This record gives sequence, C-alpha cells and structure tokens, in this order.
Amino acid sequence: MSSGLVNIAYLIAASLFIFGLKGLSHPRTAVRGNQLGALGMLLAIVITLLDQNIIGYEIIIAGVVIGGAIGVILAVRIQMTAMPELVALFNGFGGLASILVAGAALLEVSVLKGTAGAIALNAQFSISTFASGLIGAVTFWGSLVAFGKLQGKVNDGAVRYPFDQAVKIILAIIILIFGYLMVVNPDSSIPYWVMIVLASVLGILFVIPIGGADMPVVVALLNSFSGLAAAAAGFVLFNSVLIVAGTLVGASGIILTIIMCKAMNRSLTNVLFGTFTVTEGGPSADEVYGGKVKSTSAEEVAMLLEGAKRVCIVPGYGMAVAQAQHAVRELFDLLEGNGTTVEFGVHPVAGRMPGHMNVLLAEADIPYERLKDMDEINPNFKQIDVTIIIGANDVVNPVARTDPDSPIAGMPILDVDYSKTVIVIKRSLSPGFAGIPNPLFAADNALMFFGDGKKAVEDMVKCLKEEIG
Ligand code: NDP
Repeated sequence: MSSGLVNIAYLIAASLFIFGLKGLSHPRTAVRGNQLGALGMLLAIVITLLDQNIIGYEIIIAGVVIGGAIGVILAVRIQMTAMPELVALFNGFGGLASILVAGAALLEVSVLKGTAGAIALNAQFSISTFASGLIGAVTFWGSLVAFGKLQGKVNDGAVRYPFDQAVKIILAIIILIFGYLMVVNPDSSIPYWVMIVLASVLGILFVIPIGGADMPVVVALLNSFSGLAAAAAGFVLFNSVLIVAGTLVGASGIILTIIMCKAMNRSLTNVLFGTFTVTEGGPSADEVYGGKVKSTSAEEVAMLLEGAKRVCIVPGYGMAVAQAQHAVRELFDLLEGNGTTVEFGVHPVAGRMPGHMNVLLAEADIPYERLKDMDEINPNFKQIDVTIIIGANDVVNPVARTDPDSPIAGMPILDVDYSKTVIVIKRSLSPGFAGIPNPLFAADNALMFFGDGKKAVEDMVKCLKEEIG
C-alpha cells in the first residue's frame, strides 16, 4: 500500500477518535461517540494489517481469538461493583503489550540488521523503546498491585517501608543509566530487559504504599500511563495512529485523575506520596448517633412522598451494590405521574469510579436532563421537600464542611442536610469508604430507612402505589 494512502487512512482514524471522545463528553452523544471511536479503531486495524506483511495472519487471528475470549470472560463475569478492578487489569495489559512491542522491535532489529527492511538504529528508536518499556512495566506491575488491593488480595492499607521515597529515586536513577546504555549500545537488548525488571520493581514500589482508598485515582493515572506507553510504542513502530491514540488516552487519563483529585479535595501529590488513612481520632459512632437516630418505614416514606412537590434522589455506592437503579426508575415514574418534580443529585465521586452513578441511571433510562451535578443541585436543596439518599454516605457527610480534622475535610459534598426532610436508605449505620460516622443520620430532619437499597425502593413503590390509589 502506498504510504500516502496509509497516512490518509490513519488521519481519518485519528479524527474519528477525536470526534468519538468529543461525543463521550455528553450522555446524549456518548453512544454515537463510542461508535465513532470503534469505527476509527477498525479502520486503523484494517489499514495496519493491509500495510504489514511480515507476520502471517494466523498469528494475528490466534491473538484476537485468545485475547477476545479472555476479554469476554472477564467482562461477563465481573460484577458492576468490581469495574475499577477490571479497568486496572485492562490498563495493565496495555502496559504489557507496550513492553512486548518494544521488545519485539529490538529483536527484529537484531534479526534484520543490515537487510533492506531493517529499522534505523538511531537515538529516537532507542529512546522510544526505553520509554515504551519503562512506562509499560510500571503500568503493568502497578496495575496488578492496584487490582490486588481493590480485590483485597494485597494489603489495602498504605504500606510503608524504610526510606521509601529514597529507594524509588535511586531505582529511577539506575533505570536512567540503563536507558543511557540502550542509547549508546542500541544493538544489545540486554540493557532493555534489565531495565524492564527494574521498572517492574519500581511499578510495585510506586503503588504498594498507596492506600486502597485511593486506588481508583491510581487506576485513572495508570490508564494515562498505559496511553503514554502506547504512544511511545507508536514511535518505535513509526505508526502515527498509535502515537495519536496513545496520546489521547494519556491526556484524557490525566484529566480524569485531576477531576477525581479535585472532587475529593486532594492534590495528586498527596494521593501518590501522602497517606489517606481511616482516622483513629474524631467522634465515635456512639457519640454521633447515640439515641438520636430515627428509623422509618416504607409506609411513612410513601406518605411523605405523596405530598412532596419537589424530590431529589441522591444515589451512592450502595445503589450500585443493590442494583437498585431499575426500582429507582419505577419510583421516578410514579412520582412524576403524581405531579412531583424529581431530580437526581449526582456527586462526581459517588460510587467507586467516575461516572459510576451516571452509567447506572442511564442504564435505567432516567432522562439525562434530570441528572444534576453537585454545583447545579446544591443551591436548590433548601427548596427540596424530600431528599432520598440511596446507599450514599461520604458524599453527603456534613463533617466535610465542619470538621477540618476529618479525612474528608474540604471535600465538596451534596448539601442534602438543607432539604426539608432527608430519607437515608442503607442497611445499617456502618460507615462508608472514608470509615467515619455521618452526623447527617442523627440530624433532626433525617429519617433512616434500614434495608437493602433495591428492596427498600421496591417497598416504597408498592406503598406509594397504594397511597396514590
Ligand atoms: P460510601 O462508600 O461513602 O457509602 C456507601 C454506603 O452504601 C455505605 O455506607 C453502605 O452502608 C451502603 N450500602 C452498601 N451496600 C448497600 C445496599 N445493598 N443497599 C443499601 N445501601 C448499601 O459511598 P459514596 O458513594 O457516598 O461515596 C463514595 C466514596 O468513594 C467517597 O469517599 C469517595 O471519595 C470514594 N471514592 C470514589 C471514587 C470514584 O471515582 N467514584 C474514587 C475514589 C474514592 P451499609 O453497609 O450500612 O448498607
């Protein structure tokens, strides 16, 4: 194929990725955006396959079948609540692919050396091979540790070891020395593989000290790394579409990481090098709740909802665990049918991954315009008659506003406590992700509806139907 044609096809593919990403920025255009991105990737793959004739198609087909089968099994078996783990694994595999691509390019160089098809051994090749392998190895091993922490298989606390920062700096310097050896001795692949071993240790040491609580942020950052590793692999292979796609993943991953840090009022440095630990101090659950918590029932909530003009539903991690979104949709329809305006207050870090709640509510066909983000809904809580919280805890905990020593101090929260009545659906008074009591549950205007999120909403729907008649 002529290189002009290949480059035009790659340009079209890259434009489709960009339009695809733009589409993904709004729920209404997200499906189309996804399709555009997939079309771009299909075009890029077809053109790459037509343009390459070094290896047989059998190997590629075998790779697609094995990789596809692993992907399908993982995607089907994974629970919705374990999505961050799956994303961590996908990032890790991306990193591994970059290590292998750069390693294979080095091998190819030594096999084809001196022949017409040989890759030019220049500094660009060596530096990009080094970058692809280094970032790929850190991503792969870092993602495996993140996966283990999220699954609870690796100590999910903030594991400290002596001189941790110094050890990482010394390791990074040794890795750079091996990078230099790769540049001055591009024929040998030994410095590359030694560097991969060292970078793997760095990847493990990088993630091990970070607490499980911060893993979703780390996963977003590793997602960005996997993109950068792919972009570096694009320089190794002189493949422009891989450079563009990798850079887009790298950039969007870092933007997402920053958004998540902001939503938790943490800096990236604090996440990576500080510690987020569950506090030992602070008031105990008994002090916060003792004798002040009022519980309610489906019948009582139905009576309150029957007379409410404006209702806000705040979903959290518990809604995902209970898979309550379809029952919530039924409640939404019933209330709207009764003349009540229903909105959803969605916190940016509700759940366990960015957009977690939006995905679940979209799955239940809740109209997008009813999903209000924190800044939009917060000024309205004083006018809301009933706020129903389904399995959310930290994102509605007022201590973020009032206690500067709390682990969530300064985290922007949904000001649900300003609404006239607050109904909190959860199974017990156990804490959320941050591990601290929530004084909202003991507030004068709050009623606790103890139970599983889905069952509780279904019961409310049943009673409300009877109430409305
Ligand atoms: P939380 O983890 O604070 O609370 C979830 C609550 O859901 C728990 O208190 C639990 O209480 C309840 N719950 C669990 N299962 C059920 C069920 N089946 N039915 C009803 N309730 C249930 O969740 P939030 O969404 O409020 O906050 C998210 C937290 O995650 C924040 O601290 C955030 O910083 C953190 N985080 C989020 C990230 C993201 O990207 N979204 C990334 C990193 C961290 P009980 O056991 O009593 O039922």
